[in-house]
Amino acid sequence: MSTFQELGLNEDLLNAITDLGFEKPSEVQEKAIPLLLEEDKDLVALAQTGTGKTAAFGFPMLQKIDIDSRTTQGLILSPTRELCLQITNELKQYGKYCKGLNVTAIYGGASITDQARSVKRGAQIIVATPGRMKDMISRKLVDISKIQYSVLDEADEMLNMGFYEDITDILSHTPDDKSTWLFSATMPKEVSTIAKKFMYDPTEITVGNRNESTNNVSHEYYLVNARDRYQALKRLSDANPDIFSVIFCRTKRDTQKVAENLIEDGYSAGALHGDLSQNQRDIVMKSFRNKQIQMLVATDVAARGIDVDDITHVINYQLPDEIETYTHRSGRTGRAGKSGISMVIVSKSETRKIKSIERIIKKQFEQKEIPSGMEICEVQLMSLANKIHNTEANDEIDKYIASINELFVDTDKDELIKKFFSVEFSRFFNYYQKSKDLTVSDSRGSDRDGGRDYGKSSNDTRYFINVGRKDGFDWMKLKDFLKEQLELGRDDVFKVDVKESFSFFNTENEIKEKVLAFFTDFKHEGRFVNVEVSENRGRSGGGRRDRGRGRGRDDRRSGGGRNRRRDDKPRGDRRSSDRGERRSSDSRGDRRSSGSGNRSDRRSNDRGERRYDDSRNDRRSESSSSGSDRPRRSRRRD
Ligand code: ADP
Ligand code: MG
Repeated sequence: MSTFQELGLNEDLLNAITDLGFEKPSEVQEKAIPLLLEEDKDLVALAQTGTGKTAAFGFPMLQKIDIDSRTTQGLILSPTRELCLQITNELKQYGKYCKGLNVTAIYGGASITDQARSVKRGAQIIVATPGRMKDMISRKLVDISKIQYSVLDEADEMLNMGFYEDITDILSHTPDDKSTWLFSATMPKEVSTIAKKFMYDPTEITVGNRNESTNNVSHEYYLVNARDRYQALKRLSDANPDIFSVIFCRTKRDTQKVAENLIEDGYSAGALHGDLSQNQRDIVMKSFRNKQIQMLVATDVAARGIDVDDITHVINYQLPDEIETYTHRSGRTGRAGKSGISMVIVSKSETRKIKSIERIIKKQFEQKEIPSGMEICEVQLMSLANKIHNTEANDEIDKYIASINELFVDTDKDELIKKFFSVEFSRFFNYYQKSKDLTVSDSRGSDRDGGRDYGKSSNDTRYFINVGRKDGFDWMKLKDFLKEQLELGRDDVFKVDVKESFSFFNTENEIKEKVLAFFTDFKHEGRFVNVEVSENRGRSGGGRRDRGRGRGRDDRRSGGGRNRRRDDKPRGDRRSSDRGERRSSDSRGDRRSSGSGNRSDRRSNDRGERRYDDSRNDRRSESSSSGSDRPRRSRRRD
């Protein structure tokens, strides 16, 4: 593995790279950069999303163009406005020490005269969407006759979107002796056609297997009746309180509808599709990047290439028409070395598509069940307990302690905890207690995981364990960990479900005692790991509900360092990207949102400042009022 320096980049770029914190080149960069720097050649590079393609063509282009000249020398075509802006911003950062550099973005929906003016000022590099570019060429607002380097970024998607003619037209205005660099995640026929037509003996580099999905992503599918799709989506979200996700729908209409329903049901969601105005799309993307929106409902085209790290889940609300698209979707998560989950909600008639996808991604799906209402309640409760546990106590409260104490003088600790948690818990509980099971049985499930029937069997026990994603586990790692620790066989641990700071798993009832005994006073990497029977499926064997006092708890405070940020950043907080800033200026508002549950936080999202302006508002009444109205409203949908 080489360094950026060894790839031959100049001082200005290396300094910018240092500022950006890139430590070493990614694979596609390592392969493409020296090649492109060395000679003027055509290149076809296949690499999945998130592999750093922008820098792979951006650095060589920045180094090769003549910055002292004001002639346009580089042209980058990309499918969407969002990508166009993203690439422009990246290039500006890469070239921050290249004095005199002017990178201009050209895309539809914004003032064409402003863009033309910016080009006239001497843009050495233009990043454009094909439609607007063609428009500007025909109006003679740009001159690309002296282009030396052209890039077709996300070429497969541009062709998918029907830009073939536009691209052909645009390239016909560029000189024949330029170099063309084509970047694509997949290599369908159309892309090879365009490569043949416009490129001369291109060097081809491939990173990873073609069409292969990222390794950090696990794939799950959930079989439901088509009419339960939306309910299933809500449950998947409720079962993952810290979800930060992109939800893919097939059409713009469905995208809009699902987003609207989610918002109406109190989730922090937003829609991203081509029927929205550019301004609306910008606002949605900004909120998503800032994590003010937890669920971005999007069409494939609108979400293509969008570079947002930290996405925990991709949810395929519907499968794409072209199964190749699945790779792009699932590639939105599992980035920057983190693990991610790609979930697919399918109806029975679509299950065969799962098989075809497995062949393309060369990975197996795990069939899972939509969480039951009680599972969700437990997850929400434990998540809240964890948040409260991790919340720094606010000393401002000291002066009220006496009067609060007085109010609760006859309430013992357990009772108090119960009451306190009921504020949040009852809302979920009331909503879900009579909810039906959404899972549909499927013959396919039986050839999974050693033929075990996960159904409603009472032969297995479900456990809670106080380690989760932030401790570096995903379901596979946790399963392996448990099997190894307990010296169990391949299929003895199942239904492993990893949440942010805790998880669940099942074993046969027979080994329950062994599991519980093993995890008495068990320490892993210096902290106590608690395992308890989960109330959901282990009611008969329950009873060890001493979690709140457990040793593991206190230990966590000091120990759980690694991914702390997300864990202590519950929904309300996530709305601001610059949390620290707000904490200093408005620590009261910040605190308040920390202690509250999820739904009420979500709800205030679309109302923005309300929570902060309304600082006198009593938390208790706010949560309980939203509590009664949200489930009621959504229940109508059932
Ligand atoms: P792609 O176009 O392949 O989908 P991007 O070029 O958008 O990927 O890069 C994805 C993210 O990775 C960006 O945030 C980018 O800043 C970052 N990145 C690129 N190269 C490196 C590197 N060598 N080290 C660390 N981060 C990188
Ligand atoms: Mg890209």
